[in-house]
Amino acid sequence: MTAALVELQGVRKVYRLGEVEVPALRGVDLRVAGRDFLALMGPSGSGKSTLLHILGLLDRPTAGKVLWAGEDVTKLDGGRLAELRGRRIGFVFQMFNLVPNLTALENVELPLIFLGLPPRERRRRAEEALMRLGLGDRLRHRPNQLSGGQQQRVALARALVTDPALLIADEPTGNLDSATGREILGIFADLNKQGRTIVLATHDPEAAEVAKVRLRLRDGQIVERT
Ligand code: ADP
Ligand code: MG
Repeated sequence: MTAALVELQGVRKVYRLGEVEVPALRGVDLRVAGRDFLALMGPSGSGKSTLLHILGLLDRPTAGKVLWAGEDVTKLDGGRLAELRGRRIGFVFQMFNLVPNLTALENVELPLIFLGLPPRERRRRAEEALMRLGLGDRLRHRPNQLSGGQQQRVALARALVTDPALLIADEPTGNLDSATGREILGIFADLNKQGRTIVLATHDPEAAEVAKVRLRLRDGQIVERT
């Protein structure tokens, strides 16, 4: 068996809203190995985003463990966690989450600033990432000067510029028309063929089809694997 890149063991998540407790994950076990391409499916509210946030070290489980390369990272302090996240994980979101007053190039440079790369190296790598995604002629455009599909490609370039071990995408086609969505899914498929490890959440069966394995969530539990 291939060694797990990241593993969730008995992960539970309860959100607290004042007096009310909202259980979002109710005991999830999951292994992600290098070169996997997993799609999390399930209705709205089933826990997909919560699971991605915990997998991507953006949030901590209420109970259970998150192992990165075998190391339990649930007890790491915020700074160490942020560093691990910055080096190892790339995120893509439904709403692109680009910084509106920065150019495409500046957006893609951001994660490299956090890694402390010198300006010239940052620029070179950001340009390269954008060119690989077919945006070589859009480097100086701001998000509102780009189409949805182009914005999502900028977001992908930003996620990939650090060469992350894991690419996480939360409903990456949810805000795109179907033709553009298919184009973006094609990019995910190509990235995985090139060896990139991907976990994406979607409620679109067509989107889930590009993944190698589909996991269905219901009420915070994985109920089916196909
Ligand atoms: P999905 O991505 O599948 O739609 P989520 O992980 O966003 O599901 O949500 C799972 C459950 O947790 C839902 O009941 C949702 O209302 C709740 N939830 C999600 N985020 C929060 C939060 N920050 N505070 C309180 N409840 C939340
Ligand atoms: Mg969600």
